[in-house]
Amino acid sequence: MKTTKKFYQQSWTNRLMTLVNQSIITPAQATILKQQANNQLLGDQQIENYLTDYHLPQGVACHYLIDGQQYLAPMVTEEPSVIAASSHGAGLVAQAGGFKTKIGLHILWGQIILEQVTNPQQLKQQLLMRKAQLLALADQAHPSLKKRGGGARLLRVRSLGDQLLSIDLGIDTQAAMGANMVNSMLEAVAKYLRQQLGRQVLMSILSNLADECLATATCRLPIELLTKGSFSGSQTAKKIALAAHVAQIDSYRAATHNKGIMNGVDAVTIAMGNDWRAIESAAHAYAARDGQYRGLSRWNLSTDQQFLQGELTLPLPVGFVGGSIKIVPLAQLNQQLAQIRSVGDLEKLLVCVGLAQNLAALLALVTEGIQRGHMQLQLHSTALAAGAEITEIAEVVQQLQAQGKTDLTSAQLILQKIRKTGDHQ
Ligand code: NDP
Repeated sequence: MKTTKKFYQQSWTNRLMTLVNQSIITPAQATILKQQANNQLLGDQQIENYLTDYHLPQGVACHYLIDGQQYLAPMVTEEPSVIAASSHGAGLVAQAGGFKTKIGLHILWGQIILEQVTNPQQLKQQLLMRKAQLLALADQAHPSLKKRGGGARLLRVRSLGDQLLSIDLGIDTQAAMGANMVNSMLEAVAKYLRQQLGRQVLMSILSNLADECLATATCRLPIELLTKGSFSGSQTAKKIALAAHVAQIDSYRAATHNKGIMNGVDAVTIAMGNDWRAIESAAHAYAARDGQYRGLSRWNLSTDQQFLQGELTLPLPVGFVGGSIKIVPLAQLNQQLAQIRSVGDLEKLLVCVGLAQNLAALLALVTEGIQRGHMQLQLHSTALAAGAEITEIAEVVQQLQAQGKTDLTSAQLILQKIRKTGDHQ
């Protein structure tokens, strides 16, 4: 793009004009970008080179009963069936008394990586002897956190080989996700290491492998609840346990097993104004913590074979305050909609959403397969992609089903026919 003024220095209107003047988009497309922009002033504050707002649908999953409390799960997703599956999984668990959760510490690790360390053992001892001083230095860089009851708690030193050493600071970030707070605390300690100890700092940054910020959900379903079609509850329960076992031993299956869990977790994380990339990377890094990538959940039968028991542990470094939560009005509205009042509540909801989503997916997979449930919504999307108007969708979907077709070309042909004959009116 050739411009006299740098793109980011141009006003929003000028940016759109530049794109039109250089024939990158048409004037009509510029109008669409303008119409879709919710709040240009806010957008310009949030990101660089802001053009418009990209809207995703938001719905809500129901039936969440967690530690005796009812919750709703607001979800932002473009994928059909995620919300239906979430409500279905949560509904089954609610019939069995609901989820139980255990929420651990809310500690985020930050790393200061030193290079050219020729004496790692000696340096490790030296740093551990100064633990209290280093933690105090970190706290001084963000004193309000300590006042709120949080702050630097843990320090460990790991030799990474190749003359590299990681100093890990564990920081209790209270109700915030804490990335920015942790990064500024790390920088204060890094400065001391450079200036007072003469060490070479390669970088300082938080780690997204938040294994000191874990949340666990469990549930226990009587097998009768799992009766489905021609499958008895006992058959279904055994198949679910076996499917979960496959995800423990095979990374190809584990990747999809975990994607299903994250379908729900990401959707709620986005609705809550949180950084879903941080939650994604935490989950997948945690899934590979013993060196093999594995399924995040476990399902097994009780010893008397009468109950299916599920458990999911996720690292959930989320925030109830901070980041973009305060500036995105929907994030605050969704906190109220979900009935969550603290960062602990949010962790509870997220980990239960993951387990419910996983239950619904496994239940469908080991019985009728996932496609049947998906198909109705998928055909809707195909009809829309073929260009169907709202009033034409039902007819296109019906004819696709009658013909046993699912592809876009068939949907386009059906639509042409409908329009010729005026069928949809
Ligand atoms: P902020 O920078 O917004 O810091 C949290 C803010 O919340 C502080 O200003 C703090 O106030 C305030 N606050 C109010 N009440 C509380 C409370 N009870 N407990 C804790 N803080 C409170 O956000 P974070 O530090 O949480 O950083 C999150 C953002 O960082 C996310 O948007 C993420 O996308 C981004 N990020 C992520 C990275 C990653 O994951 N690798 C890397 C870098 C950034 P006060 O200042 O008075 O303490």
